[in-house]
Amino acid sequence: MPAIPPKDTANDSSAPIEYDLIVIGGGSGGLATSKSAASFGAKVALVDCVEPTPHGTSWGIGGTCANVGCIPKKLMHHACVVGKEVDHAKTYGWKNVEKKGHDWATLTQVVDDRIKSNNWIYRVQLNEKGIKYYKAWASFVDKHTVKTVSADKNKTEVLIRAPKIVVATGLRPKYPDIPGAEHGITSDDFFTWKNPPGKTLVAGASYVALELAGVLGDLGFETEVMIRSRPLKGFDNDCVEKVMEALAKHSVKIRYGDEAKRVDLQGEKKKVKLNFEKRRKKIQVTFINKSGDETSDVYDTIIWAIGREPKLESVHLDKAGIKLAKSGKIIADESDRTNVDGIYALGDIVEGRPELTPPAIRAGQLLGARLFGCSFQLMDYTGVATTVFTPIELSTVGLTEEQANEEYGADNLEIYHGYFTPFEFIIPQDNDKEQCYTKVICKRNDPRTVLGIHFVGVNAAEVMQGFAVAFKKGITMEDIQSTVAIHPCSAEEICKLSITKRSGNDPKVQGCCG
Ligand code: FAD
Ligand code: NDP
Repeated sequence: MPAIPPKDTANDSSAPIEYDLIVIGGGSGGLATSKSAASFGAKVALVDCVEPTPHGTSWGIGGTCANVGCIPKKLMHHACVVGKEVDHAKTYGWKNVEKKGHDWATLTQVVDDRIKSNNWIYRVQLNEKGIKYYKAWASFVDKHTVKTVSADKNKTEVLIRAPKIVVATGLRPKYPDIPGAEHGITSDDFFTWKNPPGKTLVAGASYVALELAGVLGDLGFETEVMIRSRPLKGFDNDCVEKVMEALAKHSVKIRYGDEAKRVDLQGEKKKVKLNFEKRRKKIQVTFINKSGDETSDVYDTIIWAIGREPKLESVHLDKAGIKLAKSGKIIADESDRTNVDGIYALGDIVEGRPELTPPAIRAGQLLGARLFGCSFQLMDYTGVATTVFTPIELSTVGLTEEQANEEYGADNLEIYHGYFTPFEFIIPQDNDKEQCYTKVICKRNDPRTVLGIHFVGVNAAEVMQGFAVAFKKGITMEDIQSTVAIHPCSAEEICKLSITKRSGNDPKVQGCCG
């Protein structure tokens, strides 16, 4: 444990309050670290605060996942699933279940209520575990001392001090560097946005863009996604193709190859004070393609979903001497140590880490245990499964076919794949039976170790979680194929895979029960 030089604080009322651990950031990683450390008896201070968006949206404790990420996103995704079931209900004989439109205000209200109750639960948990929660902005004074400035209008300053400090400050959405970018919103505003979005342009081609576009399309808003290069880079190409086909079927238009050049409020002559909740003006976007040709279109809302970036300027990491990567993220080693003794970093803010909640939580739990519980266990970032919650979900663990080819060579691999129709779509007639798809990549030679599992279908995340456990244990294709399937369900399609790409046989939908 690094020693802190003793301070003479006997008669000093402004002396820092001493803790065993200070955690900066009360999101997935910070909360997990605090709770873990406290469970081993550490005296913990957790400092969390949110910089409102340019449109004034703000939220409580819990970080991105709980307030403007996974949770509101999944609730809205589920709202769309429910809408689809209502469409299907009539086919099964249900009466008077006709969909008569959707009320955006109701959806955002129930989502907001759920977020607020989560904020409350986190506060109660911190209190129960004896963790001191500062709803305040944190900045380093030196490598053991942090200044907190309360989030209320009093801006009360309190100095706190600890031999160990964890930085888990997460990321915020990027805005493009183009004129008029401020007329767009981001996922930080989306889930509680009061105005129904109307005709919407979503810029970006990764998780956030495609998930939000799927929601908007399913809720009945005219939706366009602007993809400047390729969608879902890093995911298996065959699977991405199915996701994009499904998005098109869910009323999402794709604008390939364009980038936004400028954004203008229609009919706006002079700069007006930003008051987006009241603004009803249309937004004109000028696009430019690779050949330099310009086009334009008019929207009610633009959502920038072009990636996320650190916001560390006001944290004064320089006062502690913490090194940053070129990306602006913090450099930390496999033990989450930064270059400064006693200062650690985890979650999205660390260079090279997956920007996902479960790894941040697990890393936090393990760090707490290493710092205060005599554990030596390090976080293992291999075999982390992930799901894109588009209308037809894509879930994946391990290598894509493209990555496996590169690493092992196509001759050394066997690719099993198959299309299937999930039970949910059998009766509500849909002409495309090949809506869902699964692929397992394994080594060609015995023991045919599985290198990647991919699943595009309904409830893909639920399907993949169990397979991810098996994957982590190093299963073989023999293990998958010799597992007697559960019937009828979608997950059995993975166990039933028998057609390889090498065979050239048709992987289209096979018979259902034998
Ligand atoms: P965060 O959760 O971002 O927490 C950081 C906290 O620190 C924030 O509260 C921030 O305001 C606070 N903070 C920053 N600076 C200071 C300071 N100086 N003083 C005090 N407090 C400060 N991941 C999944 O696994 N599954 C999903 O389905 C999923 N969906 C997502 C959907 C969207 C729209 C987005 C944007 C993200 C999604 N993610 C998802 C990613 C996930 O939310 C993040 O990976 C995760 O929240 C990262 O946790 P973290 O602790 O590193 O940071
Ligand atoms: P990503 O960093 O994953 O991707 C950014 C996307 O924006 C890319 O498609 C990129 O395209 C595009 N882009 C970048 N700049 C521009 C520009 N100027 N104009 C047009 N397009 C641009 O960002 P996300 O915001 O989608 O997600 C951030 C992270 O959050 C994810 O990586 C994921 O880890 C996490 N997340 C997880 C979710 C889940 O688990 N379900 C859901 C949501 C987020 P190009 O390839 O051309 O550069």
